[in-house]
Amino acid sequence: MRTATKYIHAGVHPDPATGAIMTPIYQTSTFVQDSPGKHKGYEYARTHNPTRSQLQNALAAAENGQYGISFGSGLAATDTLMKLFKPGDEILSTNDLYGGTYRLMRKVWEDYGLKFRFVDMSDVAGISRHLTSATKMIWLETPTNPLIRIIDIRACAAIAKPAGILLAVDNTFASPYLQNPLDLGADIVMHSATKYIGGHSDVVHGCVITNNKQIADQLYFLQNACGAVPGPQDCFLLLRGLKTLHVRMQRHCENGEKVAHFLRRHPRVAKVHWCGFEDHPNHRIAKEQMRGFGGMMSFELKDNTVEAAIKVLSSTQIFACAESLGGVESLIGHPASMTHASIPREERIANGLVDSLIRLSVGIEDVNDLIEDLKQAIG
Ligand SMILES: *Cc1c(COP(=O)(O)O)cnc(C)c1O
Repeated sequence: MRTATKYIHAGVHPDPATGAIMTPIYQTSTFVQDSPGKHKGYEYARTHNPTRSQLQNALAAAENGQYGISFGSGLAATDTLMKLFKPGDEILSTNDLYGGTYRLMRKVWEDYGLKFRFVDMSDVAGISRHLTSATKMIWLETPTNPLIRIIDIRACAAIAKPAGILLAVDNTFASPYLQNPLDLGADIVMHSATKYIGGHSDVVHGCVITNNKQIADQLYFLQNACGAVPGPQDCFLLLRGLKTLHVRMQRHCENGEKVAHFLRRHPRVAKVHWCGFEDHPNHRIAKEQMRGFGGMMSFELKDNTVEAAIKVLSSTQIFACAESLGGVESLIGHPASMTHASIPREERIANGLVDSLIRLSVGIEDVNDLIEDLKQAIG
């Protein structure tokens, strides 16, 4: 099945009881058994729910994987992955990480004896020297937030595999439409489906996809044993979102390209971070491992101050100032005072997150309206 057909049909089938073409919302906590232990495959809704089962199949198919495991949020998915490890195990992570993942690793799992190192992975050659005999997993995000750095997934897999180390990719920013890490050699893909997969800013959800049966079995066990499961209504919204992922992503890419070029030409803009530019440091890798460059970007102002950035953020009419990304509507954010405010200023600037940096999630509105909005806001 080709991509567009897959997003609409793979993993789902009409409801066996009624023929409903769309997966019903099985809003029930338990399932009646004919006699003790004699049931139709469903006993209790934390363990299995038919709406969730179909979503898990559909998400697995979207990432060319065999097993999909859904959770109540992206962080619940990552939290469950951490439970695959034991005290003393090390996870090597990229230093350019979603803030909530960093917090989960440092403030929660370090207390339970897991060890984390955060290193620059945009130059893959440097990764090997950070591996120790205790390293069990490499964790990365690409493109990264908010500087849109690109990490070479295939090259990371070539380092991880011979060393017997798992490679996990948070694929939230690219979405399954733009990038399929399992095809590039990763063992585990994680999504905050809250973003592009849901696509309509109306649901929080996370998932893990893998081809490794042993890992999948452990995750299904943990999903039930720890219980961070999504409700059936949320699963329905995700199934609905997935069906239009390809058309939305095509428009995100088209609009993203036009907005990125507009910003680059703007006399008050100092720098634009977008992986579709030919002079982006890892553009060649982006082109190899992604099918398009998406609608995520960030830019710096020539007046490199917090005040100048806040003025732009307060002036847009269509771009809404909010955290999150990947919805149909365009969002604008200021990492220094929003998502990355907890990082000390010096550390933030050393990582390239300057005071005036503004992040955009370019939506699928008419691109001329988006450009006019930015034009009047930047001045
Ligand atoms: C939002 C996000 C998460 C966390 O997902 P939630 O659904 O908010 O729990 C993880 N990684 C990335 C890259 C994200 O953007």
